[in-house]
Amino acid sequence: MVTIGVLAVQGDVREHVRMLERLGVEARTVRRESELEACAGLVVPGGESTTMAKLVRTFDLFEPLRQRIKEGMPTFGTCAGMIMLADRIEDGTRDQETLGGLDITVRRNAFGRQVDSFEGDVHVTGLDKPVHAIFIRAPWVEAVGSGVEVLARVEHGAAAGRIVAVRQGPLMATSFHPEVGGDTRIHQLFVDLVRES
Ligand code: GLN
Repeated sequence: MVTIGVLAVQGDVREHVRMLERLGVEARTVRRESELEACAGLVVPGGESTTMAKLVRTFDLFEPLRQRIKEGMPTFGTCAGMIMLADRIEDGTRDQETLGGLDITVRRNAFGRQVDSFEGDVHVTGLDKPVHAIFIRAPWVEAVGSGVEVLARVEHGAAAGRIVAVRQGPLMATSFHPEVGGDTRIHQLFVDLVRES
């Protein structure tokens, strides 16, 4: 059975663990380097990226995580997790660190105050029916490097056209929260990525 870790310093860890278990994966919470070693892939959950970055630093996980990502460990970031995987941030706090790996620029809290949280259907490359996406103080992807595949964009409203899901080799990220609700298809895409690698 494939083992996938969920970075468990902060954020909605339990929802991801549950999703992975529903897909028949052995899910492990990861707070230390030794726990990471057993994992073939990793989920970086939603939460608050500034806090998460500080805790990753406190738990001495920055270098081990960066190393595994560099070596090609499939990694999936949702919302704050997307920010953690981004090479560049707009509207981050001063000195906000990320793990990096994804050649994207993300804008934190991009959708503005009035529309802090909202839901909408988005078409995701690789899925035949749209996903009902939940955005909570979400980032969007401002710019992507040439090796990055855009998987989904906002389809309606003022933010229409904004990129909200990407993939670059074994790295995947969504601005929204596929761990919330009962739809396992996005996690399945990631599990397939882990199984293939
Ligand atoms: N706004 C948060 C951040 O900047 C992300 C919110 C989320 O993960 N739901 O980290």
